[in-house]
Formats: sequence, structure tokens, C-alpha cells
Amino acid sequence: MTVADTTPTTMRALCRTEPIPPAADLSWEATAGRACYACGKQLTLGAVLVGRAVGRMGAHVLDTDAYACP
Ligand SMILES: [Zn+2]
Repeated sequence: MTVADTTPTTMRALCRTEPIPPAADLSWEATAGRACYACGKQLTLGAVLVGRAVGRMGAHVLDTDAYACP
């Protein structure tokens, strides 16, 4: 519990304002662009392309588009 933790749940920040995690931390569904990277919800219509999740595993670049709820 912190002093800043006074935001009511109804005023929760939009998923698309959440910082994009490293690509390695995304779920398979989020990596495939089928789920919100912030809350993990399935995305159907109106997904918002927020940016790129970046990362690499050895020689492999894992960069992928990151989508969030509308
Ligand atoms: Zn979301």
C-alpha cells in the first residue's frame, strides 16, 4: 500500500498506456498479436497497435508488434 495508490479501479489506466514489456516477457498470444500485452485479453476488433516489444534470444531477434485493448 502506497500513498499514490488511491486511484479507484474505475479510473484504471488504459492498457495502451501501459509500458510495453520486453518481447521475452510477452505471452505467446500477445506475441502473435492475438492478445493484449497489458491484460492478456483476447483481441478481436479495434486492437490498438501501441509499438514494438523488443528483445533477442542469442542471435534471434524477438521484436514484435505490441497490441492493446481499444
Ligand atoms: Zn488490455
